[in-house]
Amino acid sequence: MDLRSGEPYFVVRDGPVMSHAPLAGDASCDVLVVGAGITGALTAYRAAQAGMSVIVLDKRNAARGSTAASTAIMQYEIDTPLAELGGLIGAEDAALAYRLCYDAIGELSVLVQEIEGVEGVDCELRRVGSLYVASSAEDAEGFAEEVRLRQSAGIKAEVVKGGEVAVRFGIRGGQGGKGDAIYSTNAATVNAYRLAHALLHRCVGMGVRVHGATCVTELERRGEGIIARTEAGPTVRAKHAVVCTGYEAAGMFKEPVVELMSTYAMATAPVRGEPGGGRSGTFPPRCVVWESARPYLYVRSTGDGRAIVGGEDEPIVEAGARDALIARKCKRLAERARELFTGSEVEAEMGWAGTFGETRDGLAYIGESPEHAGVLFNLGFGGNGMTFALIGAGLVVEVMKSGRPSELRLFRFGR
Ligand SMILES: Cc1cc2nc3c(=O)[nH]c(=O)nc-3n(C[C@H](O)[C@H](O)[C@H](O)COP(=O)(O)OP(=O)(O)OC[C@H]3O[C@@H](n4cnc5c(N)ncnc54)[C@H](O)[C@@H]3O)c2cc1C
Repeated sequence: MDLRSGEPYFVVRDGPVMSHAPLAGDASCDVLVVGAGITGALTAYRAAQAGMSVIVLDKRNAARGSTAASTAIMQYEIDTPLAELGGLIGAEDAALAYRLCYDAIGELSVLVQEIEGVEGVDCELRRVGSLYVASSAEDAEGFAEEVRLRQSAGIKAEVVKGGEVAVRFGIRGGQGGKGDAIYSTNAATVNAYRLAHALLHRCVGMGVRVHGATCVTELERRGEGIIARTEAGPTVRAKHAVVCTGYEAAGMFKEPVVELMSTYAMATAPVRGEPGGGRSGTFPPRCVVWESARPYLYVRSTGDGRAIVGGEDEPIVEAGARDALIARKCKRLAERARELFTGSEVEAEMGWAGTFGETRDGLAYIGESPEHAGVLFNLGFGGNGMTFALIGAGLVVEVMKSGRPSELRLFRFGR
């Protein structure tokens, strides 16, 4: 699968960073991690921290899949509002899912500090707010109840009325509810591409073997463990295997788990001045801004003062058709950002596209699948892939240590 194309900002900025040699001979370990994107990197790091011997294999180079295209926003708010999720999986489990995501933002901050301290690298983590703006008066009607439910789950959130949204955030406030927003203080932006490389570098320092250009073609249960075959021949015997292959894992299941599509993003040139800290008319905003319309527009700022604008999802998966739309989609993203941030100049300097996927309830798939006995999965599909990747890394490591974390029920296959 061709996961991305165009000029993803973080890759343009950092370059190829690091490549790892292919696996040259048979090997064995406690944990085989398949996939070296941000999910595989987090999983390998957590497993190594738990004292397990780890091998990571990727058919590309590390972090060259969708992690390279990610706009790297970490939110606790999944694409399915809490009220709606409650209707799908029950109020108690929905609140638990939100709470896990909420706590994961703090966990990421601690982890990034750990990595930055040892690796001497700035992963550009910024703790920011998240502003969820009503695209219609009808959408705003549910905001008070949504905030009440979140507060009951121990989450800090408030409704901000349209006029105040305009004053505090420089975003068009509307009449009759359109432009009202939910504001939460707990979100983060990061450079996921750099963080994945830093994590893998740290992993290597902890004795983990990382190999690129090594495609895993088969995972077979053998006795108490797994034997992995690779395209070039060498095999890996492992006590456990964790598949972290992102959207490409979709093809592994007869029962569909994710609906694939394409999504688009653009980065502006650096905008002069500080990112808006709440003053009217300031762009880019310091907080993450996204809309209640589906597909939604979202905006974040970068450490060098750019805005990244994303969205404009299309139900196409074929890479050529997806890529033919990049220029037009960037123009449209800039137009829509100009409409949202009244009076701001927004022009694309770089644009890119990538494969994206959503699950029916907006939650990840983590744990064992009945279709692949003995194999663990950490598949953080959807707009909150990174948040789920971190939660999944913790959960699969607990499973490998013979635990049965009760939270796994939220993310189980066949739900
Ligand atoms: C434009 C865009 C914007 C996004 N913005 C956000 C965002 O703001 N926040 C967010 O949380 N998420 C976002 N996402 C989703 C994001 O990409 C994912 O959350 C995250 O990067 C997925 O990481 P991953 O490691 O699971 O997948 P990947 O980065 O794709 O890594 C999977 C790896 O598995 C490897 N692999 C696949 N098959 C095999 C095999 N058979 N053998 C060996 N290796 C294999 C691949 O080469 C790849 O490197 C965005 C996605 C796109 C396209």
